[in-house]
Amino acid sequence: MTESQHEISAPREKSLNFIEQIVERDLAAGLNDGRLQTRFPPEPNGYLHIGHAKAICMDFGIAQKYGGVCNLRLDDTNPQKEDTEYVEAIKDDIRWLGFEWGKICHASDYFQQLWDFAVQLIREGKAYIDEQTSEQIAAQKGTPTQAGTDSPFRNRPIEENLALFEKMNSGELPEGSMVLRAKIDMANPNMHFRDPIIYRIINKEHHRTGSRWKAYPMYDFAHGQSDYFEGVTHSICTLEFVPHRPLYDWFIDQLKEGKDLEDHRPHQFEFNRLNLTYTVMSKRKLLALVTEKLVDGWDDPRMPTICGLRRRGYSPEAVRRFIEMIGYTKFDALNDYAMLEAAAREDLNARAQRVSAVLNPVKLIITNYPEGQSEEMEAVNNPECAADGTHTITFSRELWIEREDFMEDAPKKYFRMRPDGEVRLKNAYIVKCTGCKKDEEGNVIEVYAEYDPQSRSGLPGADRRVKGTLHWVSANHCLPAEVRLYDRLFSVENPAADERDFRELLNPESLKVLTNCYVEPYAAEVASPYLQFQRIGYFTQDKHSTPQHLVFNRTVGLKDGWTKK
Ligand code: ATP
Ligand code: MG
Repeated sequence: MTESQHEISAPREKSLNFIEQIVERDLAAGLNDGRLQTRFPPEPNGYLHIGHAKAICMDFGIAQKYGGVCNLRLDDTNPQKEDTEYVEAIKDDIRWLGFEWGKICHASDYFQQLWDFAVQLIREGKAYIDEQTSEQIAAQKGTPTQAGTDSPFRNRPIEENLALFEKMNSGELPEGSMVLRAKIDMANPNMHFRDPIIYRIINKEHHRTGSRWKAYPMYDFAHGQSDYFEGVTHSICTLEFVPHRPLYDWFIDQLKEGKDLEDHRPHQFEFNRLNLTYTVMSKRKLLALVTEKLVDGWDDPRMPTICGLRRRGYSPEAVRRFIEMIGYTKFDALNDYAMLEAAAREDLNARAQRVSAVLNPVKLIITNYPEGQSEEMEAVNNPECAADGTHTITFSRELWIEREDFMEDAPKKYFRMRPDGEVRLKNAYIVKCTGCKKDEEGNVIEVYAEYDPQSRSGLPGADRRVKGTLHWVSANHCLPAEVRLYDRLFSVENPAADERDFRELLNPESLKVLTNCYVEPYAAEVASPYLQFQRIGYFTQDKHSTPQHLVFNRTVGLKDGWTKK
């Protein structure tokens, strides 16, 4: 059974999103010699999350769709927070999502070119060294309706600026002692033009360039130029960069002006970020959850990270399907977590191998079934895909069923097991409940039933109908397992908009560990990671699961139990 046979359905006909329209327009107009080049530019300061998946599906997806190329650009301009661990994780996650980059680029590859460009700006009188503190600089920025105040260092002589810029990179100066600012317009209505800081001192080893640099370019100074150096045509990012776009263009203008540089230029386009209910997307907060051990690492199945979703049992197709469902617009929104789960259910319904597992077991004894006897039956692996075949299950006298599937004094509409009531045991027999045994506290410890030998599933004449069908596992033919049930990580819908510290907003019931579960052996043997525990939900083996200690994670329940709440 190949994965492709599990395609949920043929690609859906849908209209073009606005970025696709722009790309089609540009290609039709023959811009950039018909070239399409994008980049996905993560900063390697954390693991990728579902929001990045949205950017990845755009950057890589659009290049794929229109025969272009998308490079992976590691935006490594701040050695304080960056690490090669993150670089490797980023690569893994992009590949897992099903994309391949043209080449890997690093903003740090351009440190020399960016430095030279900064020197050029100084020489042209368009940049100066400011020795004020960041607080002073911020205080002089003004407001959108009120002009800023010039720095006392704004008209420093060029030679002095050049000498000080060298000094910024010498390692002699403490961080924050001076910065390089572009000299543009302190009264510009766009605040980003009010002499933006373009270089600062960071006295820390860089994971690629070591101790070569001490002066590091700021995002706005590195990003557009990196796009230009690489030949990016469409630089796609999220809406918060809209006000940065004029500055992006300004730097490219300065870079190209009067020089014999290649005649192309990148353009920036912006779409809305993905924000998801009941979680956070900020890498700073996600990092805090990890380092403070509030979750079990970046890939904790409750995390909105791509590796977390993978460990939770999402397929890459489910993640991509969700991104397709929410689409790309120019308006920020809060996306419903239930939609992500709906995408997972749709995908897993087509993909998951059906097995039996009992999470809250109580013993069921078939009193008229001979002791020591057992028999094998066929169970369909996936009713949505005949090619997935069947596997064998074993029936015997002593079974485990769910505690909730038996009730001594049951209401009328209870179609599960009750004294004198009949139910079908899935893929096996119809049984009639004859009673139960309780301990001193009144807890049911055993349930009794008699089976009807003529009712075995598949036998001629066995199509007698009863209302309820229960899942079960044979007590002597099953495996013990731990099962982890996950719920929302946060108990408020929009933690990012809450004044309280995000740690206080964590859902105390986001993880429930069940240690006394039983699964049929096939659940541990089957090659596919995507399982459905019948009547319960979709599950996958955790990365720490071993044959000696099976651990399953619930990906998502069978039904939406959240929207109703
Ligand atoms: P943080 O601010 O938490 O560090 P970031 O947005 O700066 O996160 P980057 O590594 O710089 O993270 O992001 C890489 C790319 O992914 C950028 O193009 C960014 O616009 C995009 N991206 C990040 N978060 C989202 C999101 N929630 N939705 C869509 N795209 C996103
Ligand atoms: Mg960023």
